[in-house]
Amino acid sequence: MSVLITGGAGFIGSHLVDHLLAETDSQIVILDTFSTGRASNLAHLSTDRLETINGDVRDGSLVTDLVGDADAVYHLAAAVGVENIIDNPLNSMQTNLQGTENVLEAAATDTTPTFIASSSEVYGKSEDVPFAERDDRVYGPTASPRWGYATTKAADEFLALGFHAERNLPVVIGRYFNIVGPRQTGQYGMVIPTFVEQALAGEDLTIYGDGTQTRSFTHVEDAVSITHDLLTTTEAHGEVFNIGAPGPTSINDLAKRVIELTGSESGITHIPFAEAYDEDFEEPDEREPDVSKLRDTLGRVPTADLDRILQDVIEERTSEVSA
Ligand code: NAD
Repeated sequence: MSVLITGGAGFIGSHLVDHLLAETDSQIVILDTFSTGRASNLAHLSTDRLETINGDVRDGSLVTDLVGDADAVYHLAAAVGVENIIDNPLNSMQTNLQGTENVLEAAATDTTPTFIASSSEVYGKSEDVPFAERDDRVYGPTASPRWGYATTKAADEFLALGFHAERNLPVVIGRYFNIVGPRQTGQYGMVIPTFVEQALAGEDLTIYGDGTQTRSFTHVEDAVSITHDLLTTTEAHGEVFNIGAPGPTSINDLAKRVIELTGSESGITHIPFAEAYDEDFEEPDEREPDVSKLRDTLGRVPTADLDRILQDVIEERTSEVSA
């Protein structure tokens, strides 16, 4: 069996590679531009079961060829990270829209099972927590590029569901909620790696806003094993799933826990959102998944708690600093 992972050099993608190498006999092909992804995410692997292609999901003929050779596709390539989306709005829209349509169109030719990575951002600034898959979405104006990411991911979902309805594509859509763990970079505004790096460097942890906003954090190992299970479960095809851990944490509590677990002397500084981004920036207060559908379908939900996640990230960053 041959599996194509777009975005396989990225954070979640590289953990999915690890998982599939360990749990299956599949040959794995990665398609990645190495923009936010890194060769170092795959450097620990030495196997002839893995092939890496440096290319773009917007390249339709390349995608057609690679998907044509695959028995299953995980489409994770995307422009990600709020700061990245705000800085590069056009490139982000095109990557997330054209790229996904290319993958789906190619997969539909042989009805190749395909996983589409979506996001909790799809719920926008809805306050109706916990979010269930059929809940309403609430977005800000198009003048605020921040909502462009959510809009592309929602459009990707509509496309995928359309390919399922009209072309019988066995597709599964997973809405990831704050997936975290080793190899995630803090470069694009991700909170846990940023806090851990600040704590280890003895710098103040910078919280945007008053820190009362809450998030549910999910260990990447849980996320990739659930991703794999969903695509191999026929009942999940044509469906949308939240992939996240229940149990939210405030950003203030997260910062305090990082300081405790690292034994750091760091303090905490709060920065207004308008100063960190721009005046129109909007950040949802709460984001928590309703995981009933996932539990009903797979019989399980993510289990790793926040301390386990933080310990894994701290261990990785500490060994990088001492290497
Ligand atoms: P990541 O940035 O590490 O991974 C994205 C990968 O896509 C990178 O390796 C990047 O180089 C690659 N890429 C970007 N543009 C490309 C293009 N045009 N062609 C080919 N490859 C390209 O981020 P991640 O956190 O691993 O995210 C993986 C997927 O999960 C994305 O679709 C993202 O939107 C989604 N997601 C992630 C989270 C999270 O918490 N990490 C939350 C919601 C959704």
